[in-house]
Amino acid sequence: MTESVKNTAAKGKEMLVSTGQTAVAGVNTMSTSAADALNITRQQGSLPSTVSSPPTLDADVIVLGAGISGLAAAAELVKRGNRVLVLEARDRIGGRIDSRIIASEESGKAFRVDMGASFVHGKYDNPIYDMTRELGMTIHYTSPEGEIRILDADGPMDENLANRLGFNVSHTFFDASRTYAQEHNPASSDSLASYVFAGNSPLFDGLDEMIEQGGSSNNASNKNSCWKAKALGRSFSGWTGAALEDVALKWWGFERDTIGPDGMVTGGKYHQVVDHLAGLVSREKKKGEIRLGEKVESVEWCSDEEYVAVKTRSSAGDECSGPTWVHTASRVICTLPLGVLQRDPPKFKPSLPPRKQRSIRSLGYGLLSKIAVRYEKAWWKESDKTTSFFILPREDHVEETMPPCLPEQKAALAPQGVMVQNFVTIDGSAQLVMFLGADYGHAMESAKQEECVEWAHDLFVRYLSPDSVESGTIPKPLGAIASSWSTDPYSLNSYTYIPSAVDVEDGLPVTPLDIADFAVPTWNGALGFAGEHTHQDRYASVHGAYESGIREGKRVGIALEMSRRGEE
Ligand SMILES: Cc1cc2nc3c(=O)[nH]c(=O)nc-3n(C[C@H](O)[C@H](O)[C@H](O)COP(=O)(O)OP(=O)(O)OC[C@H]3O[C@@H](n4cnc5c(N)ncnc54)[C@H](O)[C@@H]3O)c2cc1C
Repeated sequence: MTESVKNTAAKGKEMLVSTGQTAVAGVNTMSTSAADALNITRQQGSLPSTVSSPPTLDADVIVLGAGISGLAAAAELVKRGNRVLVLEARDRIGGRIDSRIIASEESGKAFRVDMGASFVHGKYDNPIYDMTRELGMTIHYTSPEGEIRILDADGPMDENLANRLGFNVSHTFFDASRTYAQEHNPASSDSLASYVFAGNSPLFDGLDEMIEQGGSSNNASNKNSCWKAKALGRSFSGWTGAALEDVALKWWGFERDTIGPDGMVTGGKYHQVVDHLAGLVSREKKKGEIRLGEKVESVEWCSDEEYVAVKTRSSAGDECSGPTWVHTASRVICTLPLGVLQRDPPKFKPSLPPRKQRSIRSLGYGLLSKIAVRYEKAWWKESDKTTSFFILPREDHVEETMPPCLPEQKAALAPQGVMVQNFVTIDGSAQLVMFLGADYGHAMESAKQEECVEWAHDLFVRYLSPDSVESGTIPKPLGAIASSWSTDPYSLNSYTYIPSAVDVEDGLPVTPLDIADFAVPTWNGALGFAGEHTHQDRYASVHGAYESGIREGKRVGIALEMSRRGEE
């Protein structure tokens, strides 16, 4: 009935297509050795798609989705002695943790890149940081000297101005706006943009004086520094996943954060974290199983018989054909991403309670996109010094940083700076990774792969080595990949945010309680939810998703232990 994942891993190119991330060169997603070690199965043939009632249950608990939250929940339940079945639509585990291997057809060389999560946010009170230590993973922390460099098409920016802009933008986003939200209790309809781009925003502090006081004033690059500050500010839509006009100021920074600096996983190896958890799930062969390639179509609670039936269909076929299966368990934990619950949910029977439906409908789910470009050698200036470049367009040529396919009405939101990470300083690889949020991300992801890569390469050359534009001496990339999170049917965007909008049905503001509500199980405890969108304090993150999985694993584990002991 099943074939080992070794065969699945061997179909690297097919997996690439099915996961919606297309590489210019060949791609594989999971190391064969890692897959070998795991009890992961891919289905062939079909099982009956009806259930005789009451059935012999396939597992104590079924977990929907093998992202980090699903694997964490499953590992917790297996540790507590339960039989767990994890059902995953993709041909790989990890979900929005997606470590790609990109092979250059021309050179035959391969490289790795994390197309989903790459940062570990905070060192303390962060279980993911602890896990990376346990697994011996290398995390890069940027030194204070190597932080950011602003690249301006108008020419080299005066160092004082660049420092001032860099300070202003990070202070405005991470400190001042949060303090303002706490102290002034803005209306729920006020957006982050209404604070960040207001005339008296700390984003513009000291900029006019710097120009007026001479020194910098003769430098063409320093003209219109407020305009540049705005462009830089807009690049933070990559952080929020949404235009700053759409994010609620009231709840910005409301959450309980981790402590300490952010670090980056080096070498494109974030997958080690999910491989580790999958290993814990399948450590005891008869306890935990992860089944790939099964898209969940319906989840039905048979309350009389006290079990839940989950119907799946092979994700390799189309929606009407292909084998189907029915799996049964006494409890289900749903970790499907918010985007999937919003736009292509399984059929829940009975339907979800109105409060849960409101959370699904009203929370925001934004987009962060990436383009990774790898070269034989680093050719850009300051390749060994600067970790992040911010590319700013010229005021009269805002189209310079606009991705292909940006619709005209969205271009009105321009200008937007673009953040690029220089991996030479992170792990020594000659790789540049561009981050594009919200509209810029959507525009990029609706273009063809080749078009995106060409656009990114041209932009890098124009800003990182302008002298070489004419001579054409910069070598072509070895390999490259652009993300497609917005169209990938199993993510349908990147992560959750709290919008400044009201709910379309009840007209009431969206609040963190809409996230908290996800943590409340339904169907008399038989259906629970985990995933980044269910963690009020740590949504949109790997550590939040992980903690939510542990939370649900514990809740269900305790409930099962109680029922085995005959307790209420
Ligand atoms: C580009 C990008 C960059 C990011 N950067 C960072 C970062 O640097 N640091 C950080 O902390 N966080 C980051 N995040 C967020 C982080 O990756 C996510 O919050 C986290 O991985 C979500 O885990 P999850 O388990 O909730 O969901 P997922 O990982 O999405 O898992 C859900 C699983 O459900 C499966 N699924 C979906 N539909 C079905 C179906 N119908 N049937 C069966 N299975 C289904 C999916 O395939 C998936 O495997 C980033 C996200 C993105 C997209």
